[in-house]
Amino acid sequence: MEKYRLFLDGTWQDALRTRDVISPSTEEAVATVPVAGSIDLDRALAAAVRERNQWAKTSALQRAEILRRTAEILTRKSSQTAQQMVREQGKTLSEASGELERACETFQWNARHAEELCKPDYIDDSRTVLYHPAGIVAAFTPWNYPAVLTARKLAPALAAGCTVILKAAEEAPAAAVATVAALHEAGVPRGVIGLVFGDPPMISAHLLGSTDVRMITFTGSTRVGKELAALAARNLQRCVLELGGHAPVLVFEDADIAPAVRAICEYKFEYAGQSCNAPSRIFVQRSRYQDFMQQLAEVAAEIRVGPAEDADVRMGPMIGPQGPSRMQRLTEDALAKGASLLLGGRPLDRKGYFWPPTVLTNVPSSATMMSEEPFGPILALVPFDTLDEAIELANLTSYGLASYVLTRSEKTQRDVVERLSGGTVSINVFKGVAPDVPLTGTDDSGYGHEGGKEGFRAFQNLKLINRIGK
Ligand code: NAD
Repeated sequence: MEKYRLFLDGTWQDALRTRDVISPSTEEAVATVPVAGSIDLDRALAAAVRERNQWAKTSALQRAEILRRTAEILTRKSSQTAQQMVREQGKTLSEASGELERACETFQWNARHAEELCKPDYIDDSRTVLYHPAGIVAAFTPWNYPAVLTARKLAPALAAGCTVILKAAEEAPAAAVATVAALHEAGVPRGVIGLVFGDPPMISAHLLGSTDVRMITFTGSTRVGKELAALAARNLQRCVLELGGHAPVLVFEDADIAPAVRAICEYKFEYAGQSCNAPSRIFVQRSRYQDFMQQLAEVAAEIRVGPAEDADVRMGPMIGPQGPSRMQRLTEDALAKGASLLLGGRPLDRKGYFWPPTVLTNVPSSATMMSEEPFGPILALVPFDTLDEAIELANLTSYGLASYVLTRSEKTQRDVVERLSGGTVSINVFKGVAPDVPLTGTDDSGYGHEGGKEGFRAFQNLKLINRIGK
């Protein structure tokens, strides 16, 4: 059984207490994580304070070189890390390996752009903008994409010259531990990065209670995001909050249904639908509704569900018992309010936190699953008649993250892009997050940017220099 440790001031350390990491496929403990106490957090903070000026002064080129080496080390160790991710969080091996690859690309991308993004901007002879590191960052990552989300926070923060304390997800520690170990091996000076686990509210209250922490970056639920924003308000710490989503898909009658259904199933049921960008509400123009429904039922029914360790399994379990309970509650509520069940809808009769691909049709807007983020392998299908109606239905939730549109009409594409709320609109494509583009949410999906140049700039303070004469 793996025994993870804290990484404090350049060394791996035990804490006084530990908690178990439970395999969602077997419900058995497969590892332990340390539970950091106040003394551990103070050590991480003291080291970050001690090192922040030196790291900020290190050249962007040197910092980039360390990130490049980190990517190489992570790549070398990725098959071992992927196996641990499969065991701890119930991802399939190909999902875990694909995610680790994207994490490495994220380190590489930030290494490539570090020098350019740390250079001053000369506006004219008398005015210059300097980009300084934002200071000490408290980073909080969730369990669903523990490799790529750790990379999307650590790589730009470190490249920009910030020191970072990472509180990674206790449910899925392997990827964060592997990333911090790779950074250490790649030559990050002691104290520049700390890694802690434990009691999340205690850790965030402790770290955000320190005026030395100047910024937080969090990916997780809207509820926790709001709590952290409230804590950060006391010391005016800058926030980047990547929160929940409830992605609509608008399928217009001129769309190519067969490839669309395949792409939706592939994207939706990746990691059992536990992705903030996963489609969850599908609105189909009435003339194609029956056809779409039938094809979706056939393709989704082919997905083999079971322990992620089994090679022929396409979809593993959900992270914990709350997942299947939430799916059951949302399904029962939708049925009680008039929806019909097309597929799934019952937990698997076996050990583990499994819920099968579930499709509900004719789901009324009053059903809880149309407003509450399902974050699981469940889809609501609803017919629409006009573009106006589709947009109105799509914009009904309090979230604004991702949305998808399937149509060949350029006019419809333009209208929809203009009128759909949220941070991303994807047209005729379902795509994972890339390192070179900024992601952001609106409303309950959060604020600030992650990824791309905007995501890098989030870790910088701008200083305007006005000068007359030499
Ligand atoms: P959660 O917010 O409860 O937990 C997410 C992470 O935050 C976990 O690692 C948890 O330990 C930590 N956390 C919980 N309480 C905390 C606190 N008080 N202080 C600091 N950290 C705390 O959410 P969850 O249900 O475990 O994860 C799924 C949610 O995350 C969904 O709502 C999903 O949409 C969201 N999410 C969003 C994105 C995005 O990019 N927008 C990506 C992945 C997940």
